[in-house]
Amino acid sequence: MLANSSLFANNIKEKTEPGFFEEEAKKLPARHFDVVIAGGGTAGVICAIASARQGARTILIEHKGYVGGTPVEGGTALHSFYNLWKAFPGVKKRQLVKGIPAEMVDRLTARGGATGYAEMVIHYDYDSVCTAIDTEMYKLNAHEMLDEAGVYVCVNTLLAGAVKKGKRVEGVILESRSGREVIFAKSFVDCTGYADLAARAGAEYSEPNDYAVVNSMGLANVDIEKYYKYLASQNAVGQLAYGVRSGEPGQIIRIGSEGSSGYPDEFVKGAREIGMSAISTTVHDNYLMFIKMNLKLAVSPTNRDAVSKAELELRKRMQTGVELFREYIPGFEKAFISRTSPSLCIRRGRLITCDYDITHDNVLNGDYFEDDVFVYGFHDMAPRYKVKDGGSYGIPYRALCVKNVENLFVSGMMITSDHNAHMSTRNTVSCMGQGQASGTAAALCALNDLSARELPYSKLRYALENGKVYFES
Ligand SMILES: Cc1cc2nc3c(=O)[nH]c(=O)nc-3n(C[C@H](O)[C@H](O)[C@H](O)COP(=O)(O)OP(=O)(O)OC[C@H]3O[C@@H](n4cnc5c(N)ncnc54)[C@H](O)[C@@H]3O)c2cc1C
Repeated sequence: MLANSSLFANNIKEKTEPGFFEEEAKKLPARHFDVVIAGGGTAGVICAIASARQGARTILIEHKGYVGGTPVEGGTALHSFYNLWKAFPGVKKRQLVKGIPAEMVDRLTARGGATGYAEMVIHYDYDSVCTAIDTEMYKLNAHEMLDEAGVYVCVNTLLAGAVKKGKRVEGVILESRSGREVIFAKSFVDCTGYADLAARAGAEYSEPNDYAVVNSMGLANVDIEKYYKYLASQNAVGQLAYGVRSGEPGQIIRIGSEGSSGYPDEFVKGAREIGMSAISTTVHDNYLMFIKMNLKLAVSPTNRDAVSKAELELRKRMQTGVELFREYIPGFEKAFISRTSPSLCIRRGRLITCDYDITHDNVLNGDYFEDDVFVYGFHDMAPRYKVKDGGSYGIPYRALCVKNVENLFVSGMMITSDHNAHMSTRNTVSCMGQGQASGTAAALCALNDLSARELPYSKLRYALENGKVYFES
């Protein structure tokens, strides 16, 4: 692949034409588990806890030094544990996603690391609640919960390959400073976001390249009340929620102008040039998170050289972004960048073909299936697109089973081909719900020597309900 690539970083010419080198075969140390979870992000953390709680010997592979994934690096708030009741007068407020995802957020909230489910007061026809998180506490909280569940957590470890026999995945190849090794197991779940495991295991996939790549910054030294007064004076407060900030209730925890109304023309022009979106959240005084720089690549974000260039471009854009804020927006005069993502984020890398592909009609109509594993109700394109009557739709088990592979599940942003349907299923709380479902299923399969399609739905449903998963049908 690389040998044919003409996209070399920094335009440095290679000495000779790229070619090939045959790597020597190696004898690897091997270990055995029941379930392997690849990727310790949004879905993977919940997935591993769910698997271990079923009694399966579970290993989690994460290539960064911490767990958490995109919510600690890219997003604005966790969307969404509730239905969109505020947009539909008379509709009952319901918490749709419970189970391990809610347990994790409730625990984080209790220790001051999340805002809980603060109600939106403006633009509540987009989401009726806002769950903002302290990104560092989220990493710690999630890692502690994995530890308590008895998951064998390997951070700083890259999933580098898959061992496959016929239609079964037999093992995964890992790389870390301890060397290269193989882990054999009975069930596997790919939660890497980019579907590194499924792709290496030969699963059918495509690369739609239908989103921009993003890095997002946290700005410290921000006078949030001054910023609010400025937006209010321009009649431009587009998003607003109040909640607990630095331990004090009734504080602004989500703020932004919808679109670019209310900002000075020079700021709007500059922001457009760097693809900046300014809606942000916080759990701390003087701090706003997740101001995003977007950059659309001409090629898929799996292309290393294009991504290398994008990483530099996004860092330049973040620097320009903070300078724009300092110059033009009251409250940001002394702001500085206090956090960026270690690498750019993406809303979709590879798309894996599963036994069922959730459609946009399924989402909008609030369809349920005979094999639902949880229900969900948020759509990132609301108020344009909303789930019928502010209700929910079901995520079927089949949507998590990788086509033509007997013992491989996927969870997270790699499912759902229709872009508009994906604008619902890819959101954090959906990924978490998927994680609990796939982790539970993977463990039940491994413990009972079943392949994914042999697992009786009644057994899975029973285990999910025991795990406090909520259903509406
Ligand atoms: C910029 C941006 C803003 C967003 N805003 C919101 C928002 O406001 N609200 C919302 O609900 N959703 C938002 N989303 C969507 C949501 O955050 C993601 O779709 C979701 O978090 C993806 O979860 P995941 O589990 O699939 O992947 P991730 O959470 O990204 O987890 C994947 C994990 O796998 C690890 N990994 C990857 N490859 C390997 C490998 N080969 N070996 C080992 N580990 C590996 C990664 O390090 C990571 O920890 C946003 C997404 C982006 C990109």
